[in-house]
Amino acid sequence: MAQTVRRQWVARAGSWLTEGFRHPRQAVRRPASPEIGRVRIFVVAVALAALVLVAIAISALAADPPTATESLGALALLGSAIVAEAFPVPIEGVSAGKTSLATVFIVGAAVIYDWRLAVLIGFLAMATIELGRRRAPIRVAFNTGDYTVAAAAAGATAAALPGGGLLVRCLTALVTTSAFYLVNIGLLGTLIARFESKPLLRTLTGSLVSTTVPFAIMASLTVILVALWDRSPFLAVALVGPLVSIALYQRRQHGTLDRLRELDRLKDEFIAITSHELRTPLASVYGAAMTLQRQELDPEQRESMLGVIYRESARLARLVDQVLWASRLESGRVTTTIESCDPVELVEEVVEAEQTHMPAGLSLTVAADVPAPRVAADGEKVKQVLTNLIDNAVKYSTEGGGIEVSLQAANDLVRFSVRDDGLGIPLVEQQRIFDKFHRLDPNMTRGVGGTGLGLYICRELVDQMNGRIWVTSREGEGSTFAFELPVAQAQL
Ligand code: ADP
Repeated sequence: MAQTVRRQWVARAGSWLTEGFRHPRQAVRRPASPEIGRVRIFVVAVALAALVLVAIAISALAADPPTATESLGALALLGSAIVAEAFPVPIEGVSAGKTSLATVFIVGAAVIYDWRLAVLIGFLAMATIELGRRRAPIRVAFNTGDYTVAAAAAGATAAALPGGGLLVRCLTALVTTSAFYLVNIGLLGTLIARFESKPLLRTLTGSLVSTTVPFAIMASLTVILVALWDRSPFLAVALVGPLVSIALYQRRQHGTLDRLRELDRLKDEFIAITSHELRTPLASVYGAAMTLQRQELDPEQRESMLGVIYRESARLARLVDQVLWASRLESGRVTTTIESCDPVELVEEVVEAEQTHMPAGLSLTVAADVPAPRVAADGEKVKQVLTNLIDNAVKYSTEGGGIEVSLQAANDLVRFSVRDDGLGIPLVEQQRIFDKFHRLDPNMTRGVGGTGLGLYICRELVDQMNGRIWVTSREGEGSTFAFELPVAQAQL
């Protein structure tokens, strides 16, 4: 539970407090210094309260030590709490973040044993994980303090309730979980309210509402744990297995959902970009056609207008082609015919065609190992990939740049490379640019238009020809896109 709101806090407020980290997309408002001071005082107060509680718990345990069985049971609960804290579970529909099931074992300790063991388990579980994750000291202090104080509240509640049969124990577990939850959320809510200078009551209500589902899950699991422990501690420990499986399954599901959401976002972006990309050449073609129709133009001007129509309609056709290819690849409607092809011929054909519309100030040269062995490939698809890579090299090159297409053969493979000395690609982006719709930040590419489909199509086509494609690049110094295909066997 604490984890749920804690993550919310980290996202909203803790960034500067912990590592001075700025969220990549959205800068966190840095509060004024009086707010920082108030937050620090609050964190120190919580941490001190926790240390006092731990000291009292240790001396109480020294005065009246638990039996060997109790110690063993407490160790099992501590181990389970640490594992649960290490692997928080995302709950779909809960916006606050992932939920740690550690609460179940801390509250369980309070109901099954007493507040002393609950306090120690809460303190040790959180401190182990937070220190293990090398969190900033202020965050370790607050999170550990929060769990410890909440565990003490749970212990005190359990002690105040009357003992009885199984039903009473289950009700005790329910009320004790509520006590832990209220203190836990209360401390976190107070921290958020202080940090954001917001009304305390509204912040607390918001935190409670956003964590109702995790609370319900936590409370019912605690009841199950206590009921099972009543029958046999061994049975209750066996609960850890299914819980871990559920947690892992839930994390996988959530990961898949996150990826789908990202794809959906990229698709929306793609639609917006494509509409823009379609509009620009259309407007140019329309404008040029109107000029040709309405005005008396000399032959040179006519030629220039026809040039615009030719270039822009070719750009439109490329765009529509890319969308069609991506859709065909997606639905598995692309067939590849592997034949023995001459790589030099393929490169020459593409380069010759590209040279006809090379922008002024850019050079395109070929450096081939002649004679190169024949490759087992679909010639048309190889030309399509090469064309795409050269088009990209042109798009992302700077004035006066050079593009070199080369061929190398080694170890039964033929490598096709397209090198440019253009903008380059940051290391973190080098894998992702082959993903569907993925484009670099338009600022990084001087606002050059595109759909983010070209390299995806290249990768899929090269995959279908049993090859591989990759990029090596340094930002600001250019890129080399390369793909390798197998050498053709004699029978092809
Ligand atoms: P696009 O239509 O956007 O060019 P691609 O899939 O062909 O789509 O390329 C994906 C992204 O990879 C581009 O948006 C661009 O940011 C980057 N990129 C591709 N080729 C190059 C290159 N030669 N130099 C620099 N960046 C490139």
